[in-house]
Amino acid sequence: MEHYRIGLVPGPVRVPASILQAWSNDYGSSDLEPEFFTLYRSNQLLTQKLLHTSSDIVITSGEAMSILWAALKCTLRPGDKMLAVSSGLFGEGFADMARAFGVSAEVCAFPYDDVPDPQKVREHTRAFRPRVITAVHCETPSGTLTPCLAELGSIAHEVGALFVVDFVSSAGGAELSVDECGIDIGLLGSQKVLSLTSSLSISSISPRAWGVIETVNYAGYEAYTGWRNVPESHYMPYTHDWHAMKALNISLNALTSGDSLLRHEKAAELCRDMGREAGLRLFPKREEICSPTVTAFYVPDHMTWPELDAALRERGVAVGGNYGTLAGRVFRIGHMGSQADCELVSEGMKIIAQITGKR
Ligand SMILES: *Cc1c(COP(=O)(O)O)cnc(C)c1O
Repeated sequence: MEHYRIGLVPGPVRVPASILQAWSNDYGSSDLEPEFFTLYRSNQLLTQKLLHTSSDIVITSGEAMSILWAALKCTLRPGDKMLAVSSGLFGEGFADMARAFGVSAEVCAFPYDDVPDPQKVREHTRAFRPRVITAVHCETPSGTLTPCLAELGSIAHEVGALFVVDFVSSAGGAELSVDECGIDIGLLGSQKVLSLTSSLSISSISPRAWGVIETVNYAGYEAYTGWRNVPESHYMPYTHDWHAMKALNISLNALTSGDSLLRHEKAAELCRDMGREAGLRLFPKREEICSPTVTAFYVPDHMTWPELDAALRERGVAVGGNYGTLAGRVFRIGHMGSQADCELVSEGMKIIAQITGKR
């Protein structure tokens, strides 16, 4: 399917017309024109507002995976210790990525249908003494939202570790304060709540994190070092994507001035309620840990995921399947960014109820 009539995949989401218009303009060179650097500065300020932070904001081109790599490679050298707090696939992924370049990574693991327990993280941290602790705010494959980021942040700081958080699929749609949670490097992508194409990545970087980044001094395409003074120096490590930066400005203005959190909460609640009425079982253990941006249900016993997916696609509905140990067992309804719309969710969930209802 090239186009979804009812698109409920948990990212990439539909780009609304208000944002799409950014690509209908022609722009000059982002390397030369002062107007580009004014736009870059404006996006930094709006992101600080969105994330409740005074940390520096770095906006790079490339999909969110590029900054997951950047955060690790710029703060860790081979042989360094990293603790990945994990209650899902992305949490565990941080450890795999770090090990791939020689970092000694341990996983503080929790079940995928649950969220981390800070007491266990504290014990693991005190025994292991990592340089970096990673965590994931919304585990998109599990549909869970970690409520204890602030506590994890203080645990990291107790041992002098940097706290790196993937909030790719939650920021803008779920309550989040980078400063209150002590997040040293925060990671956000453009194709989730921001509702852009998968073209930009945004990192929040604390003064402590800059100190480590400068010491490690990693060199490579995804290095943060060249991005520290972009608006002041009018210089970037590579030519930026002006169209996407304009689109980001439209999106951030809308997200920081509207009622985004309420809109996401309402869509999520409707999705869970309609799922329950249809006899679907939530994957997360408790309703309180469900994310406002994505809902994960078990695939009903009487059908397989390929059968469910095919029947939905026949009706123009696309939802998310799953990966790893959740593949075939758990499917996901995205209601983030442009999808956080009760009418869209209701239309999709009605069709899901018809297809999954036993006859
Ligand atoms: C989407 C997402 C990413 C980026 O991964 P892609 O699947 O390549 O877009 C990273 N972390 C989380 C939690 C995500 O949901």
